[in-house]
Order: sequence, then C-alpha cells, then structure tokens
Amino acid sequence: MTTAERPASPTQAHPETHARPDAILSAQARPAPSSAGLPERVGTVWMDGMFRSGSEAATSILTHSLHYGTAVFEGLRVYEGTCFASRPHYERLQASARALGYVVPADVDTLVAATDELIAANGIREGYVRAICWLGSDSLGLMAGDLTVHVAIAMWEWPQVHALDGEDAGIRLHLSQARRPDAHTLPPQAKAAGGYLIGTMAYHAAKRHGCDDAILLDQEGLLAESSSANLFLVRDGVLLTPIADRFLNGLTRQTVLHLAADLGVELYERRLGVEALASADEIFLAGTAVEILPVTAVDGTQLSVGPVTRRLRAAYAQCVRAGPAAVPPIGPPITPSMASPAQAS
Ligand code: PMP
Repeated sequence: MTTAERPASPTQAHPETHARPDAILSAQARPAPSSAGLPERVGTVWMDGMFRSGSEAATSILTHSLHYGTAVFEGLRVYEGTCFASRPHYERLQASARALGYVVPADVDTLVAATDELIAANGIREGYVRAICWLGSDSLGLMAGDLTVHVAIAMWEWPQVHALDGEDAGIRLHLSQARRPDAHTLPPQAKAAGGYLIGTMAYHAAKRHGCDDAILLDQEGLLAESSSANLFLVRDGVLLTPIADRFLNGLTRQTVLHLAADLGVELYERRLGVEALASADEIFLAGTAVEILPVTAVDGTQLSVGPVTRRLRAAYAQCVRAGPAAVPPIGPPITPSMASPAQAS
C-alpha cells in the first residue's frame, strides 16, 4: 500500500466505526485474506477481446456497475485443465445480461474459446474461472441504456473452497431470516452482482453465529438456498430440494438431479418449510465453487455425512472430470415440468 492510499487524517476514519487511526492502520497491517492480491495471482486475463496481464486490467472508480450492482457474472471450474460446462455457464451469462436489459459484447463461442486459451496460457489445472460483464463509466445516472458494456475473464488455481478434514467432515449452516426477493424485484435466474449483497450479509451474519454459511429463505419464508449454492436434503433415502423458480437454478443443482436420476435415487423438487431441516437425515450444498459440500450442522443440530451425499459427491467428482461428453443437458430456462414432480408428491 502506498502512503497516498492510507487514511491521511483521523477525519477519514469511517464515520460509523469511530475507529482510531492507529486501529485502522493496524487493521490494514493484518495478514491479507486468501483472496487479496488476486490481480497479481491471476496471470493473464481476457478483457474486451484482448489478453492482458491481470495486474494491468482495471476499470474506473466511476464504473456504473461498481456503484449500482449492475454487473452479471459467472463462476466456472477447471478440472485437470478443462473447464466444466463452459457453454451453459456462458449461455447463462448472456441470459443474465438480457434480464438486466443489456447484451454481452461477445458470443458464447468467443467466451468459451477465450476461456480455453486462458487456461492454457495460465497453466491452470484445478482452478476457478470468474467471468464478468459490466456497464462502464460513460455516466453515473441510474439510466443504464446507452452505457458501454465490458466483459472480462480471469482465473486462478483454487482446488477447493472448504478444505474438509476427511470424508466425514462438512460445514455448519446458520438458518438466516434473510429472504430472496420475488421475481418482480430481481429476476431469480440472473446472476446479477447487486443480488449478492443479500447473500453476503447473510453469510457475514452466519459467521458471527460461528457457522460457515447461511440458509436463506424465499419470499414466503420457505427454504431457498445458501449464500451462493443450492440446498439439498435427504430424508429416508429420498432426495429433496426446493423448487428453483424463486432463486438461481444452479447448473450444479441440475447436474445433481441428473446424477441422482441415473443412480436411481428417488428425488422431489418441492416447497420445503424450515421444519424440513429438523427431519433431514442428510443435508448438502451444490454449487460450482463448493461442488457437493456436506453439511454436518444446522445451528445447534448435528448431522452426519450420509450415504446419498457420499454417492452423489463421488458421481459429481467423476462427472466433472469425464470430459465434455459427460456434461448433462443443463442450463436455462427452467421449465414448469422440472417443478411438477414435487407438486405431485
Ligand atoms: N445460488 C447462488 C446464489 C449462486 O451464486 C450459485 C453459484 N453460481 C448457485 C446457487 C449455484 O449455481 P451453479 O451451480 O450454477 O454454480
């Protein structure tokens, strides 16, 4: 950090924290969290059609999407040097931008090819890809119609989000009171940056409760998903998951449903009240970043990693490494027929 970046006087302390300047400086001197310094760690990135160094690819502080959350993004994973399901991810990126009223300035083929080139250029084997599309700094009015649209892809080695200690380990969830907004407020299938404020705040609250992530509710107070992954319950060997019409119908969630069907696991998508958590034998999360992540506690209630979670976890690990032919038919739009088995049960 340069001297120019430090708070120059006590008056620059955050007004709500009333922190003393020495406290601010010592906070800044704390060891950097693992995600700090990403621009230096990403090597080469792709931005607006050009390959550049990650530390040089930058955007203005007057970027519209920085102020109003109007970016859309995707998180993808690389296994053994190959990106899993890049096409459905980039189709979703396009759909997210359309839902917000703008167009990604690169087609799916271009984004897929840029991702493959970046994987080779950066030598990524087991990594994470972040693609983002955002509105530029032409103006800061809320009106976003005529703004320049940018798109970038970055990636880094990131074999796993949670380093679990063995097959029986899992994470602890906190049941949050936070609710996902209804579809009139924010299109649930759009991965829009602004919507992540809800998950981020719920996640922080979960951390304050000594947990690793939060379970969020839908607009009716029923179970929805975690801050950034979909939720699955197992009861008496039957797989249950909330209907994904009120929150993101994750590509991993869809993959899990295909794998479960292939394995002959009975499954239902249905509206699930919070009481379903207490009667669950197994709970796990599913998302590109966390993959299949066992849950071993919801607040004070302990759970073990059960057989259905183990089978699906193994099947998912095999599927993502089995090459493009193994990618099941996943992607938007969610069709009413996907939700019907739950209502029939
Ligand atoms: N819900 C939210 C809010 C997410 O951010 C994610 C991660 N993209 C998911 C669910 C899981 O989606 P996917 O499996 O497509 O990564």
